[in-house]
Amino acid sequence: MKEDIVESLKGIVGEDWVIDSEELVKSYLEDETAPGPKPQPVYDVVVVKPANAQEVSEILKLANREKIPVYVRGGATGLVGGCVPMKSGIVLSMERMKEIEVDRENLMAVVGAGVTLGELLQAAEKADLFFPAHPGDEGAQVGGLIACNAGGARAVKTGVMRNYVTGIEVVLPTGEILNIGGKLVKDNISAGKLMHLFIGTEGILGVITKAVIRLFPRFKATATMIVPFNDRHSALNTVPKILQRGIIPLGLEYVERGPIETSAKYLGLEWPCKEGEAFLIIILAEFNEEALYGELEEISSICQENGSLEPLLAETSKEQETILKIRSEIYTALKPDMYDILDVCVPPAYIGKLLDEIDKIAEKYGVVMPVYGHAGDGNVHAHIMLEEGWTREQYEKLREEVYKAAIKLGGVITGEHGIGEIRKKDLHLNLSEEEIELLRKLKKTLDPNSILNPGKVIP
Ligand SMILES: Cc1cc2nc3c(=O)[nH]c(=O)nc-3n(C[C@H](O)[C@H](O)[C@H](O)COP(=O)(O)OP(=O)(O)OC[C@H]3O[C@@H](n4cnc5c(N)ncnc54)[C@H](O)[C@@H]3O)c2cc1C
Repeated sequence: MKEDIVESLKGIVGEDWVIDSEELVKSYLEDETAPGPKPQPVYDVVVVKPANAQEVSEILKLANREKIPVYVRGGATGLVGGCVPMKSGIVLSMERMKEIEVDRENLMAVVGAGVTLGELLQAAEKADLFFPAHPGDEGAQVGGLIACNAGGARAVKTGVMRNYVTGIEVVLPTGEILNIGGKLVKDNISAGKLMHLFIGTEGILGVITKAVIRLFPRFKATATMIVPFNDRHSALNTVPKILQRGIIPLGLEYVERGPIETSAKYLGLEWPCKEGEAFLIIILAEFNEEALYGELEEISSICQENGSLEPLLAETSKEQETILKIRSEIYTALKPDMYDILDVCVPPAYIGKLLDEIDKIAEKYGVVMPVYGHAGDGNVHAHIMLEEGWTREQYEKLREEVYKAAIKLGGVITGEHGIGEIRKKDLHLNLSEEEIELLRKLKKTLDPNSILNPGKVIP
């Protein structure tokens, strides 16, 4: 990186917030993408840590003048190489944007893009409120969660990230600062027409610097129920029956004994269910105990009708957190032996059919594919594990078969992780050439010099 550019960046954010030594830059180059498709980053980058939207704006104006690529980096927990720099340029780390202002009256928080999920959860709790979403890794930042429209284990009742955002401050690639939306639950002007362009587009259209996030009153009665089944079919066939009965849990997860025990062992914990091979983890949250126990009874009887074994109930918050922790860390525990993690998504009632198809594919290739996922959303994490002697082509073929099986059922190749760097070659499986061209036009309109997250998402 040219010396004068580094000096200009120091002039914008201050000397302490620019890193250009190769040794220190190293820890800003990767994310959590699985070993197989993990992209190789470029080392010739300068890391810049702006404090606010104004500084981001000045950095982007400079980048436009000099045609320098800028890669936005949140918590780097992404699983598709979205924040990984592929060309020499600037890594824009959002870590300093930490303000949190909880507005109890309106049940909202105004949050800097660099606030982590863990910090948001704590701030809400401190104000006796609750932020329901839980996309796995609590190190993810609000800006990254919004950019990826993250989902996670608690998205059935209250939705994915998009459903919580009522306003954003966003800096366009050309440097203009927009304040879209606000503390409004209904807004068919700015939020309705503009805001959602920046949610889920993975940082290719703008840098999110602040957001207004909806919080919930604390659910007074919560419980997590683990329901064991002897087989996958009975467990998954039960999911639509629970939802169709009008019970909408906060989260409805599916796990199998192998992966969940691996995760528990990795954490030095114990999976509490001794019986069964396939499990539903049902997270319930209500405002009074009567409603909660009513739901628990009804779910138990639906599960029993569908062949469940004896459910296990966790009522204390510590027990419930432990179960969520074991569930959330499956990916990390399996990662060393994994080629790739997929997050295909199908209409919720077809999740059983999708898993049957995945089984057939695994059998055809003579491999074991651990699966688990957000069953209430139809979002499945199927893992391609490392196989001795396999070539990249073999892994790619297997992955494409899983994608095609999901698409055949009306699904998409990614329900939450996004496209980023590693899945852009597969975007055409879901989007037509006209749709991809429309994305290109949008990108060109907002980012004429293609400086922001260049080459990401759009093939
Ligand atoms: C153990 C584990 C479990 C996970 N579980 C889930 C899960 O259940 N559900 C789920 O959805 N995801 C999950 N993820 C993936 C990941 O946490 C999410 O994709 C998350 O949204 C990434 O946020 P981040 O701040 O880490 O973003 P990064 O990885 O830093 O970046 C991701 C993308 O967002 C862009 N970006 C980041 N910040 C901004 C910003 N301020 N403005 C504009 N663009 C920005 C980046 O350029 C990049 O393209 C999991 C990851 C791990 C490691």
